[in-house]
Amino acid sequence: MSRRAFASPADREELRKKRLRLAVIAVIGAAVIFTALWYTLENPFSQTFGTTVTQVPLQQKVVALTFDDGPNPPYTDRIVEYLHSQHVVATFFVVGMAVAAHPDIVRKEVAYDDALGNHTWDHAHLVLERSAHIEREIAQTDAIIFRTTGVHSRIFRPPFGARDFAVLKVAHRMGYTVVMWSVPLPGDWKHPAPALISRRVLKYVSDGSIIVLHDGNRGRGGNRESTVAATQLIVTALKHDGYRFVTVPELLAMGYGKGKRQPLGEPYE
Ligand SMILES: [Zn+2]
Repeated sequence: MSRRAFASPADREELRKKRLRLAVIAVIGAAVIFTALWYTLENPFSQTFGTTVTQVPLQQKVVALTFDDGPNPPYTDRIVEYLHSQHVVATFFVVGMAVAAHPDIVRKEVAYDDALGNHTWDHAHLVLERSAHIEREIAQTDAIIFRTTGVHSRIFRPPFGARDFAVLKVAHRMGYTVVMWSVPLPGDWKHPAPALISRRVLKYVSDGSIIVLHDGNRGRGGNRESTVAATQLIVTALKHDGYRFVTVPELLAMGYGKGKRQPLGEPYE
C-alpha cells in the first residue's frame, strides 16, 4: 500500500493544487520559449543573428511588391501579365526546382523588368541544415536562375524567414543581401477573400515598405487564385494613394546606394 492512501482529503487537495500550479508554469514556460525562438529565428525584424533588410529608410512613396515560392503556372503568369499591363514591377523570390520546371515564366519576369530573388532550391528550412547544405541550396538556385535567364540575383530570402548565424553567414559570404519584409504576412496562401488579403497588406504599407505575397506553395504548385485577385486590389489601391512600385534591388539602391550605409557593408549597385 502506498503512503498516499493515508493522505487526508486536505493533503490530496494540496497536492492537486501544487500539480496544477506546476502545469500552468510549464505551459507558460513553453510559450515563452516558443515565442523567443520564433522571434530570433523567424520574425522578420529580428537582427539577432546578423543584418537583414526589412523596411528601407526612405521618405518617398515607393514600395516593393514581392512574391515568394513560384514560379507556379498559371497563377504566376497571370500576376506577371497583370503587373506588366499596369507598368508595375515586382520581385519574385523563386524556388530553384520550380524554375527548372517552369523556365519560360521566369524568362518573362526578367523580360518585363521584374527582379529575381533566391529562395533556395526546394524551400528547405535552413536552420536545420549544415553550412555546406545551405551553400548548395543557394548556389544551385543561382545556377538555374543564370542558366534560365542569363542574370544572377544577389538578394536572398530564407524560406519561412528562418535564419540563424550559419544561414546569414553563408548568404553574406556568397555576396547576398538578405531581404525579409516589413508588412506582416497576410496569410494569402490560406485562400482568404482577396479583399481581406488586400486590407491586411494596405493597413501596414508606408514609405519603403516590402510586401510579401505568395504565387506558389513552396515551389510545389498550389492554387493562388486569391493572391492573383488580391494583387490587383493592392496595386490599384496603392497607385490611387500615389505609391510607385520598384523592385527590391531598386529599393535598396534608393535607400542605401551612393555611399550611404547599407545592410551588407558592400556597395549595392
Ligand atoms: Zn517561401
